[in-house]
Amino acid sequence: MADYDFDVLIIGSGPGGYVAAIRAAQLGLKTACVESRETLGGTCLNVGCIPSKAMLHASELYDAAANGMMAKLGIKTSVELDLDTMHGQRLDAVKQLTGGIEFLFKKNKVEWIKGRAAFTGPDTVQVGERIIRARNIVIATGSSVTPLPGVTIDQQVVVDSTGALELPKVPKHMVVIGGGVIGLELGSVWRRLGAQVTCVEYLDQILPGFDGEIRKEANRIFKKQGITFRLSTKVTGVSVDGDKATLTVEPAAGGAAETIEADCVLVSIGRRPNTDGLALDKTGLAVNARGQIDIDHEFRTAVAGIWAIGDVVPGPMLAHKAEDEGIAVAENIAGLTGIVNHDVIPSVVYTWPEIAGVGLTEEAAKERGEVKVGKFPMAGNSRAKTNHEPDGFVKVIADAKTDRVLGVWAIASVAGTMIAEAALGMEFGATSEDIAYTCHAHPTHSEAIKEAAMAVRGKAIHV
Ligand SMILES: Cc1cc2nc3c(=O)[nH]c(=O)nc-3n(C[C@H](O)[C@H](O)[C@H](O)COP(=O)(O)OP(=O)(O)OC[C@H]3O[C@@H](n4cnc5c(N)ncnc54)[C@H](O)[C@@H]3O)c2cc1C
Repeated sequence: MADYDFDVLIIGSGPGGYVAAIRAAQLGLKTACVESRETLGGTCLNVGCIPSKAMLHASELYDAAANGMMAKLGIKTSVELDLDTMHGQRLDAVKQLTGGIEFLFKKNKVEWIKGRAAFTGPDTVQVGERIIRARNIVIATGSSVTPLPGVTIDQQVVVDSTGALELPKVPKHMVVIGGGVIGLELGSVWRRLGAQVTCVEYLDQILPGFDGEIRKEANRIFKKQGITFRLSTKVTGVSVDGDKATLTVEPAAGGAAETIEADCVLVSIGRRPNTDGLALDKTGLAVNARGQIDIDHEFRTAVAGIWAIGDVVPGPMLAHKAEDEGIAVAENIAGLTGIVNHDVIPSVVYTWPEIAGVGLTEEAAKERGEVKVGKFPMAGNSRAKTNHEPDGFVKVIADAKTDRVLGVWAIASVAGTMIAEAALGMEFGATSEDIAYTCHAHPTHSEAIKEAAMAVRGKAIHV
């Protein structure tokens, strides 16, 4: 160790940082993790994946009871919303899971250094009064909400995702700016609890980055659920008067402006990497044009001994991608071979139904060569039928020559769980035939993946 305090110092305890810390410690490296929040777990556990899923789950059950689904199953209910209790169970989930990371740090002998880290040199950071020198430093500082120029987030009327998780009452009219994953998830929560929801999206379709057919079908389903979409529309201003907001919008291609009134505006136009205050200049590192820290395949930055992972580096801003990078970077630091296959990172939207995909969209796959596509509707899946979940489909995209699966996309109540099978298959280089001839338990939603794989060669049974 000589004069180093730690073998590995990680800045940030989100799913990238805390997983890297635990793995590094497991590999026998003396490890510390600096975190400026009061609790461990980063965006994901504190204000992201976990609290949003707690609200999505609770609001889904409320919706089922309030909107007649329970009655359809023969369960009579009289429904009353207790929003305080709903928020309470969200906070409880966050508390238990962030506390769980603290326990894992202690168990694995990872030192938690509380405070904000700033570099003072390529192998040294300062946290409060403490100067820490480490042989390896991993930047895992994550991301924050991208602000909309000219729009002030007051967390009362105009909120970001964090404010939208904590609204003390159900808005009458919520306008969601941005039709991406976070906007649709949180818009769905408040729609289910009784808000009228309008989603304004600059592009001509929601869910950028997803397969084209999936985007269209998702739009249709959300519309049917009552969300109003204003596509190809840009928000040019938001003014707040008391508890009311007035948004000025105009067609993205130019044209006459109009206004929309709301009592809650959710700004969810994306997230940007966190590098402010890190004093990267003290290391010789610079960020790229998108504000990210560039890395090589092994997560090394341009400066020896400094590594970076998670939302602060290029790639999808997803917790599981950050976690896998956390394991890989620790293994690389320990001299092992840590690899993440960035071609096989699943994406999930936890709405009702869920929307999930892995690999290439049909559009991207066709740009690379000839493909064969198999589709199977959830209406033909027996489990979806018994559960009254007729919406959605599964789509398998395979290389026309080799039959290797290039992408799988699904809209189904449990698409987020189903997509793991597709990711595993693709990781092992599966062909559509491999999936089609794998025995799937009946009756499960996953049979729809098998049938879509069969349909790649025109052989689905239940359509
Ligand atoms: C509402 C919402 C819902 C989401 N839902 C999902 C989901 O369902 N699935 C999914 O995969 N992803 C989801 N995400 C995205 C996911 O949360 C992120 O991709 C993930 O948290 C990134 O992990 P990370 O480790 O890179 O950084 P983060 O989780 O952002 O953690 C970085 C940590 O570093 C700390 N930090 C920053 N700078 C410093 C410093 N200088 N010194 C000390 N500490 C510092 C921060 O306080 C933060 O705690 C969601 C995000 C939001 C906002």
